[in-house]
Amino acid sequence: MPPTEPEGEVVAEKEKVSILWYRNGLRFHDSESLAEASSDPTTKLLPLFIFDGETPTTKLCKFNKMEFLLECLEDLDVSFAEHGGTLNMVLGKPVEVFTKLSKFFDVVRICFDQDCEAYWLERDNAVRNFCASHKIKIVESIGATLWDPLQVIEANGGFPPLTYSQFCHVSKAVGPPPRPRDDVDLSDVEFIDLATAENLVSDNLTLFPTTPSPEMLGIEKEKDPLWKEKKIYNGGEREALKYYVKRIEHEKTAFLEGTFMPNRKDPDIFNPPKSLSPDLRYGCLSVRKFYWAAMDAWEEVNGRECGTYTIVSQLIWREFFYCMSANNPFYGEMERNPICIDVPWYDIPEQLEAFENGKTGFPFIDAGIRQMRQEGWIHHIVRNALSMFLTRGDLWLNWEPGYELFMNYLIDGDWAVCSGNWMWVSSSAFEKSLNSSFCLDPTVYGWRVDPNGCYVKKYLPELADMPVEYVYSPWKAPLEVQEKAKCIIGKDYPPPMVDHKAASQRNCRNMEELQKLLLARCNMEPDHVRPSDATEVKKFFNLEEREN
Ligand SMILES: Cc1cc2nc3c(=O)[nH]c(=O)nc-3n(C[C@H](O)[C@H](O)[C@H](O)COP(=O)(O)OP(=O)(O)OC[C@H]3O[C@@H](n4cnc5c(N)ncnc54)[C@H](O)[C@@H]3O)c2cc1C
Repeated sequence: MPPTEPEGEVVAEKEKVSILWYRNGLRFHDSESLAEASSDPTTKLLPLFIFDGETPTTKLCKFNKMEFLLECLEDLDVSFAEHGGTLNMVLGKPVEVFTKLSKFFDVVRICFDQDCEAYWLERDNAVRNFCASHKIKIVESIGATLWDPLQVIEANGGFPPLTYSQFCHVSKAVGPPPRPRDDVDLSDVEFIDLATAENLVSDNLTLFPTTPSPEMLGIEKEKDPLWKEKKIYNGGEREALKYYVKRIEHEKTAFLEGTFMPNRKDPDIFNPPKSLSPDLRYGCLSVRKFYWAAMDAWEEVNGRECGTYTIVSQLIWREFFYCMSANNPFYGEMERNPICIDVPWYDIPEQLEAFENGKTGFPFIDAGIRQMRQEGWIHHIVRNALSMFLTRGDLWLNWEPGYELFMNYLIDGDWAVCSGNWMWVSSSAFEKSLNSSFCLDPTVYGWRVDPNGCYVKKYLPELADMPVEYVYSPWKAPLEVQEKAKCIIGKDYPPPMVDHKAASQRNCRNMEELQKLLLARCNMEPDHVRPSDATEVKKFFNLEEREN
C-alpha cells in the first residue's frame, strides 16, 4: 500500500522552474541560454545572478569595476521588467543557493553560458554534481567566445595551439563562428520573482530586492583623495549596443580609407576610447555580433569576403587566451603554471609600492596608473607600457602583483585575457626564447602617441606647466624651468626610480642568462608558448613602423 498523507496536511505541489543562471553573457541579444531557459512552456523562468564574491572576476574588484558590473545587472533587470519579469539577485555560494531553491521549487533545469576558463571549474563542477544528484538538467551554451575553446583544443589533438597563428589555423579548420541568433520571444513566458516567495527568503536566502550598491557588497570608494573614482563608463547592454553602432561606423570609415583596426592604428589614449572590451568581458555585447558586423562591413566596403582574421585579429587574440586558459587552473600565476617560466624576478617591495601608487618618476607610467585607478580603463598602449615597465623593461619585478592591480581596477579585468597579456609582455610565456629584442622606453613610448604630453598633463596636474620637451623626463629640466613650472623634482614630483638605459640593459642580460640556464637544463628551447614570428611581436606593441 502506498503511504498516505497525514490527515489535514496538504503538500503543495512545487512549481516547475527553469533557472537562467547569469555569470557572464549579461544580455538579451544573441543569447542561447535565454532561448534555452525560456523554451519549456511547462516551467516558469527564474533569471538569477548570484553574488558569490568571485563571479564574474569579483574576487579582485575595486569600486569602478563593481559599479560597472552592477550597472550591467540593473540594465538586465530593466529588460526583464519590460517582459513582466525580474532579475533575481541573491548572495551566497551557487550550490547553497540551488539547494535552497530546489527545496522550494521543482528545478527542472539550470541554463548558463559557458565560462571556459579553468578558474571556474571548481564552481561549475560542484553545481554539476549537485544537479546530477538532484536530477536537474544542465544546459550550457557557448556565449562568451566565438568558438568553444574545448572544441578548438580537441581539433588540435587535445592541447591548446601554442602560437597565435596555429590558433588561427586550427580555428579555421573548426569552421566560421556561428552568426548571432535571433532575439528570443518572451511574450508567453511566466517569470518567478523570489521576492514574493516569503518562505524561501526567510530560509536564509539573502535576496536583494533591487540592484545593490558597491557599498552594500562591502566595496567602498577609495579614501585617498588622489584616487577619486571618476565616472566615465556606463555598463549594460543598452549602452553597449549604442556604443557598438558607433564602433562599427568607426571600423567602416577605416575600411573606406583602406586601413583597419582603427583603435590600434591611431591610438587615442587621451579621449574616452571607443573600446568595447568591458562590454565583451561581461557579455553585454555578443562577441559573435561584433565579429560578424566587422566582417560584413568589410565585405560591404570591398565587395568581397574578407578571407582572413586580420581585421578582427584582436578578437582572435582574446579567443587564443581563453583557449590557453581552458584546461590550466594555474594560468593566472607563475609558479604552478606549466606554460609560465619561473623568472627569478627581484623582490623589492618599495619599488612595487611606488609603481602601484604612480610614483615612479616616469610621467607616462604614473599617468597611466592614475587614469586606471581613477577611471577603470586605459588604452592597450598604456597597458603595454605599464606591464613592461614593472617586469622586463625596468623594474624586473614579478608580473603577478601587476596583474592583480589591473584586475582590481580595470573594468574589463578578465582572468584569462589579463594574465595572458601580462605573461606575454613580461616574456614569461608566449616567447619562444626569452630574447625579445627591445624594451619600451617609458620616456619615448608615450611621446610616440602623444607628442604634446596632453595625457600626462591631464592625469598629473603637477606637471601641467612643464614645457613639452621635458614632460616625459621632467628631471632633465633645469631648476629654473622646474621653478617656473611650479614642479620641483624631488619635492612636487618624484625623481625617476631607475636609470632606464642601465636597467633595461641589465634586464636583457638577465633574460639571456635565464635562457642559457633553461637551455642547459632542458637541452633544448624551453617548451612553452611562443609568438608566431617577430612581426607579431611588433604588431602587439604598435611598433610596426618605428622602433625605439
Ligand atoms: C598587460 C595587459 C593586460 C590586459 N588586460 C586585459 C583585460 O583584463 N581584459 C581585456 O579585455 N583586455 C585586456 N588587455 C588587452 C587590451 O589592452 C584591451 O582588450 C584593449 O585595450 C581594449 O580596447 P579596444 O576595445 O579598443 O580593443 P581593440 O583593439 O579594438 O580590440 C577589440 C577587442 O578585442 C579584444 N582584445 C584586444 N586586444 C587584446 C589582447 N591583447 N588580448 C586579448 N584580447 C584583446 C578586446 O575584447 C577588445 O575589446 C590587456 C593588455 C595588456 C597589455
